[in-house]
Amino acid sequence: MELSNGIDHEQRRPLKVQIAGGGIGGLCAAIGLRQQGHHVSVYEQSALAHEAGAAIHIAPNCNGLLQRLGLDPRQHGSVEFEGMTEYTPSGEVLKSMDLRAINHKMWQHSWELIHRAHLHSALKELAISPKGIGKPVELHLSNRVDEVDPSKASIHLSDGTEVEGDLVIGADGVHSKIRKAIPGGEKVPFDCGKSAFRFLLPTQSIAADEKTAPFLQNHNHLVMWIGTDRRLVMYPCVGGTQMNFVAIHPSEESAVDGGGDAWQQSASKGKMMKIYESFGESVAALLNKVDEPKIWTLLDMDQMPHFVHGSLAILGDAAHPFLPHQAQGGAQAIEDAVSLAALFPLGTAADEVPERLQLYEGQRYERSHKIQEYTRLAGRDLAKGQSLDMQSFIAYNVGHDEWHAS
Ligand code: FAD
Repeated sequence: MELSNGIDHEQRRPLKVQIAGGGIGGLCAAIGLRQQGHHVSVYEQSALAHEAGAAIHIAPNCNGLLQRLGLDPRQHGSVEFEGMTEYTPSGEVLKSMDLRAINHKMWQHSWELIHRAHLHSALKELAISPKGIGKPVELHLSNRVDEVDPSKASIHLSDGTEVEGDLVIGADGVHSKIRKAIPGGEKVPFDCGKSAFRFLLPTQSIAADEKTAPFLQNHNHLVMWIGTDRRLVMYPCVGGTQMNFVAIHPSEESAVDGGGDAWQQSASKGKMMKIYESFGESVAALLNKVDEPKIWTLLDMDQMPHFVHGSLAILGDAAHPFLPHQAQGGAQAIEDAVSLAALFPLGTAADEVPERLQLYEGQRYERSHKIQEYTRLAGRDLAKGQSLDMQSFIAYNVGHDEWHAS
C-alpha cells in the first residue's frame, strides 16, 4: 500500500493527537505516539489522585511492549509469576504447575504481577517526563470528554471547549462514550452473571497464621481454591509484601445496589463470608482478615463492528471490555496502544490517518476478539468447577497458538 503519496517525510509536521482517557491504554498510546515525535494531549475525567485497583498480570505478551516503551515492571514492585497451585475448597491440592522451567524458554520476557496503581503511576510519569524521547505528553486532568468528531479528529469537553487534532483516540474504558461515534457502536456492557470481591492482605499476616501459612509454601505462586460455581484466587504483588485476592461468585448472591462495577464500591464482609461458607476453615481464616472488601461486577459486551472510523480509533476496554479469567484486559489495551503507535511514524501526513487506522483495525480486531472469546470459554469452564487449562491459558495469553494446537 502506498502511504507516503511521494511527499518528503522530513517536511511533514508532527501529528496533533487527542486522547480521551488516561488509563492504562490511553497512557501507553500517548507514550508510544510521543516517542514517534507527535504532539499528544490526554484528557482524563478524574484527578488521578486515588488511582484504584488491586494487582494485575503483566503477561509476557505485554511485558515486552512495556519494556519497549521504557517501563520495566520490576522497577515498580512487580513479582515474577513462578507457578500455580489449585486446591479444592477445603484445601486439598488438585494440581500444581511450576512455570520457572518454561518461563524463560517459552518467551522473551518474564510474566509479572504488579499493583495496578504502581503500573498506572509509572506510565503517567513516563508520559509527562521532560526526559526521554519526544515532547512530553500534555495531561489534562479533571477534563471529561463528552463526544468526538471522527471527521475533524476533534474532541468536545464537558466545559464546552472543542479541541481539533489530526488523530483522536477513545481510550475511555469499559463505559466508553466515544465508542458511540463508530457506526453501529451503541453497545452497552452487561453483567455476565458473576461478580468478584477484591482485596489485598499483607503477606505477613497470612504467614503468621498456621491455618493460612501453608498456602504460601510455593514461592510466588498464584493459588486458586476451586468450588463448583465460585472460586478464590490469591497472588502476590508489591514486591511480595501484599497478596491480591479475587473471589468470583454468582452476582445474584452479592446483589450490590447500582451494579458494583465502580472499582471502589465497598461490599459487606459478612455477605462475603456467607457466600464462601462452604469452603474450608483456611479460606474462612483468610477472608476474616479483611476489613472491607471491594466488589466488582464482571462486565461483558457484544462485539463492536469496528475499532475505527475516519480519524478516530478506540482501544482497550472501550473497544473490547474483558472478563478477568485470563488476566488479559490490561494486556490487550497495551497491545492495542503499542500497535497503533507503531503505525504512525513521524512524517505521517494528517490525510493518511484514516488509511493507517484501517491497518490498526486489521492488526488488532481478530487477535483481541480471539483472546476475548477464549477468556469467556475459560470463565464458563471455571464456573462449572473445572480446573484451569493452564496450557491453553499460557498459549493464548502469549500467542503460542502452536503449543495450544499440539
Ligand atoms: P481504563 O484503564 O479503565 O482507563 C479508562 C480511563 O478513561 C479512566 O482513567 C477513566 O477515568 C477515563 N475516562 C472514562 N470516561 C472518560 C471521559 N468521558 N473523558 C475522559 N476520561 C474518561 N484489571 C485487573 O486485571 N486487575 C485489577 O485489579 C484491575 N483494576 C482496575 C481498576 C480500575 C480503577 C480500572 C478502571 C480498571 C481495572 N482493571 C483491572 C481492568 C484493567 O485494568 C483494564 O482492562 C484496563 O485498565 C483497560 O485499559 P483501558 O485504558 O482501556 O481502560
